[in-house]
Amino acid sequence: MSPGTAEFGFELSVCRWAELSWPPTGDREHAVVVARQLGTQQRRWDTVVLECDPAGLAARQRFGPRELDSDLLHVVRHAPAEWAWYRDALPDPGYPWRYVRAAVHRAADRDVVETRRQGNRIEIRRIAPYPDWLHRLVAIENKPDLDASAARALADQVAHDVETGLADEVWVATEATGERIEPALLADFPVDVGILAFSFDEADSAGGDGAADGPVAAGPARTAASVEWLPSEVTPPGAPGDDERRRRRFELAERAYGRGWRSYVETMRPDCRHFELRRFGRSLLPHCAAKDRSPTAAECAGSCPAFEPEPPAWRTRGWPIEGGPGTGIQALLRGRREWVRERERETSGGGDGG
Ligand code: SF4
Repeated sequence: MSPGTAEFGFELSVCRWAELSWPPTGDREHAVVVARQLGTQQRRWDTVVLECDPAGLAARQRFGPRELDSDLLHVVRHAPAEWAWYRDALPDPGYPWRYVRAAVHRAADRDVVETRRQGNRIEIRRIAPYPDWLHRLVAIENKPDLDASAARALADQVAHDVETGLADEVWVATEATGERIEPALLADFPVDVGILAFSFDEADSAGGDGAADGPVAAGPARTAASVEWLPSEVTPPGAPGDDERRRRRFELAERAYGRGWRSYVETMRPDCRHFELRRFGRSLLPHCAAKDRSPTAAECAGSCPAFEPEPPAWRTRGWPIEGGPGTGIQALLRGRREWVRERERETSGGGDGG
């Protein structure tokens, strides 16, 4: 069982599993970056797995740890090797150039391009080619309690994911029931969607990925090989064209790179006296001592009726002068995010810790 009743704990466990063990076949050929709650205006995915070219991921590091938003990407991806006026160098953005000019200044402030002034013209030059670091993008929808009616409700959403073609694979992750996945659940999903059934093991504190036996990939027709439904040269009807699709995938990948899946530390309240991190298998998951369970990301906020700021005295007992346990937790999770990114740049496998 995943901790508490909240889907949030399940979601974080899936993220941790993916970080350690993606793909389900176990044959990791690429570096992996995992993020959560990312998508488009129309659709947000619970878990996003980026399969990355390790050399490309290492080259991406040159542009810093923060995400490049769409405006910055436009500048960075098209910045020339030699000095040129930005309007000559960059493709027509389809919106006023003054916004591009503002993005050029932001890019220079972030040191992701070089600029110089020639008369009243601003010239730009790239610091390095923006690498083609994204190999494949995988979307996972988490539904721990996937019964037949939940499967029906989810079917349209995952069918939409298949149609838009932004992701290369679409999976639904659910909690294993101890039985083989019910055919009734499979019947509601497009055949292009894979199902992962997890049985997370709280006691798995050494060597495993937190999943007791699994995951079980659903049915012989839905093996990992069979969900490779989108050959790169094929665009499903209604899906964006190649350039647009490529641009949107890089925007998603940048957001995943910048945020990772531990970004809940920026929205939850580690500075509440009841906030704890508890080990679950090989994951460190948020735990609320007041509610004695894993809180949802939405309820763990300043508006929570049980919120209590950590006492000032906690900040003076061996904690850094600038913070108490809450600051320590934030630093720990941020550090883990950096550390995992660093590890994936160096190797496409292995790892430890939550
Ligand atoms: S009491 Fe509320 S704010 Fe504090 S840790 Fe629990 S859920 Fe979060």
